[in-house]
Amino acid sequence: MWESLGARKQPVILVVDPNVAFRMMARSTFEPLGASVVEGADARGALRAAERHRPDLVLLGESEDFELCEQLRRRSESRTTAVVTVTERDDVDSIRRAYDAGATDFVTRPVNWLLLSHRVRYMLRMRDVLADLRRSQERLAHAQRIARMGSWEIDLETRGLDCSPELRRLLGVSEGRAPITPEQVLACTDEGDRDALLRAAERAAREGGRFALDHRVVMPDGDERWIHTQGEVGLDEGGSPAFLVGTSQDVTERKQAEAQIRFLAYHDGLTHLPNRRSFRERLKHALSTAKRRDARVAVIFLDLDHFKRINDTFGHQVGDLLLQQVAGRLSHCVRESDCVSRTLDPDAAPSTVSRLGGDEFMLLLGEIGEAQEAAQVARRLLKALAKPFTLSGHELVMGASLGITIAPEDGDDVGVLLRNADAAMYHAKQAGRNTYKFYEHSMNEVARRRLRLEGELRRAVERGELELHYQPKVDVESLRILGFEALLRWEHPTLGRVPPNEFIPVAEEGGLISGIGEFVLQTACRQARAWREEGLSPLRVAVNLSPHQFKEEGIADRVARALAANSVSPRYLDLEITESTLMENEALAVAAMERLKRIGVTVSLDDFGTGYSSLSYLKRFPVDAVKIDRSFIRDCQTDADDAALAAAIISMGRTLNLRVVAEGVETEEQLAFLREHRCHEMQGYLFSPPVPAAEATAMLREQRGRD
Ligand code: C2E
Ligand code: CA
Ligand code: CA
Repeated sequence: MWESLGARKQPVILVVDPNVAFRMMARSTFEPLGASVVEGADARGALRAAERHRPDLVLLGESEDFELCEQLRRRSESRTTAVVTVTERDDVDSIRRAYDAGATDFVTRPVNWLLLSHRVRYMLRMRDVLADLRRSQERLAHAQRIARMGSWEIDLETRGLDCSPELRRLLGVSEGRAPITPEQVLACTDEGDRDALLRAAERAAREGGRFALDHRVVMPDGDERWIHTQGEVGLDEGGSPAFLVGTSQDVTERKQAEAQIRFLAYHDGLTHLPNRRSFRERLKHALSTAKRRDARVAVIFLDLDHFKRINDTFGHQVGDLLLQQVAGRLSHCVRESDCVSRTLDPDAAPSTVSRLGGDEFMLLLGEIGEAQEAAQVARRLLKALAKPFTLSGHELVMGASLGITIAPEDGDDVGVLLRNADAAMYHAKQAGRNTYKFYEHSMNEVARRRLRLEGELRRAVERGELELHYQPKVDVESLRILGFEALLRWEHPTLGRVPPNEFIPVAEEGGLISGIGEFVLQTACRQARAWREEGLSPLRVAVNLSPHQFKEEGIADRVARALAANSVSPRYLDLEITESTLMENEALAVAAMERLKRIGVTVSLDDFGTGYSSLSYLKRFPVDAVKIDRSFIRDCQTDADDAALAAAIISMGRTLNLRVVAEGVETEEQLAFLREHRCHEMQGYLFSPPVPAAEATAMLREQRGRD
């Protein structure tokens, strides 16, 4: 590309002499060189021709015409033009004067045209080379100006610095003055970077090789710029370091862009707090500092309570404003507590607040003495949030749930601590929100197992891992079996037997309870039918209904279908429901209960006495039986209050015309107590634990044999 731009034009030679013969000789000499020849007979003609044709070379036949020579030189377009004069052989004086006037060369009279033609060819070639060089220098300077890059060279012996104009501009050193020195360059360099620059350059000079580094320079107006300087050692003929050559480039914009990118990569756009990535790095750093100093680090996971509601009610803009204000309050809290600890010890790792996204914040307390200090901060945070927020005219109060984990006690790994804090936060939510909880070892295992169970439970029904066991309900007086309570059993191939108290809640939360409930209903009804077909009835089978199942639309239809499918009379099905199930949605519960009653099944109130134990429920809901929770039966021998309560439930049930069933009867003494208070039925290990269907059948056959 440069080649074509620099393509040579035909050289122009101006011949100036009053003598036509001379001019003709010149023309016939130069034209064969490929030059175009123009002529001037006198000074005026010469200047006019020079202006028009811009000659590359001028041949002055009259050496005394010094004035013309000077005039030609002065013209800008011919400043680089070669001027050859013709002088008398021994006229040393006029030769000197011709040079002074700006002549490039001279030839003596008589002119040897052949020799002159060679000379001229050489001069034209030189002129081209010089023009090329000048052009490329200009291009370089131009490129350097665009790139804001200066080049330089330092002589290692004299310590003289040779540099391009752009370097001066980069350093803010005014142009045109005396050459800059390496010392001056250092003086412009920011104090903090001076040593590094000097050391890098000296090392390269000593050992040979290259160096490159970013350093700041301070401009005369105090402005700070970033310069990327790189250099390389040049060797002399002997092979030892002779000079250092390199470039320095203004990279301030790049640095600023980098800083911006770094900021975006490490901060949350909405609150400008550090983000998750940043938090992880800070925590990692704090952990290693704390380890060295034998200190503790606290991580607090904070999740706003019911933030979604605010977003849904007032819109995202208000939600965003709220998050910003929350961020401000949290930062303020942490800064304050950090100030206190850091005035005591300035080396302590700093504390920070980060936003993980959504309404989740993570706090790092860089160094604490006791775990209780984290609790103090947590309380302060809750208090700070409790003050009303004013957002576009709305006054809002915010609660938050906080989970705290402490390193190194709870772990010394970033991932582990984040998980711990999350588990603890979850427990704070479970504990009723707007509170904090410390991480406990069991939390993660619980969470992990729940997740595992949910996955396994999905397949349990298909794989036939679920089974019903039956526990007899017997008459307290005669000890005859009146019915059975169906209880789920899950035998997992590797996990072993998983207790229903563990997997039923998992099934509820995982949305698996419908399918499982259906299985229980169908299986229990099929069993009731089998017993009846063997002539072992009348027997009532009780099935537990979980809260979710009970609230399900069409539960009555499901029950009716299960009964019909197995042609079992509704009289023989009892549904056990806990008090809290009824509490959750009273209106719905009453409606469901009425539909079930219309089908003809009976309903027992399970675990009675543990919940709200409100007697009014017994009146409002058409239940047929109450089951005294086994905790009262367990302690009725030792605890007078429990005994009184159990007795009261029995007598109250009797007055309300309900059947009363005692759960968890394990001893003869307990049985005696129940007999004394005239409880109707009992259930418990004393008579039999829940057993597989075959065993239950065997028990029934044995009973029939006794009759
Ligand atoms: P629950 O309805 O109160 O069931 C009685 C629990 O007491 C059963 O525990 C039973 O094995 C146990 N038990 C019986 N006799 C004694 C005794 O003398 N001493 C002691 N200490 N315990 C006794 P299980 O089978 O572990 O069931 C626990 C809970 O799981 C049940 O409490 C019930 O709420 C739930 N559940 C069990 N099967 C089902 C089901 O099919 N559907 C639903 N929704 N829940 C079920
Ligand atoms: Ca039950
Ligand atoms: Ca119970």
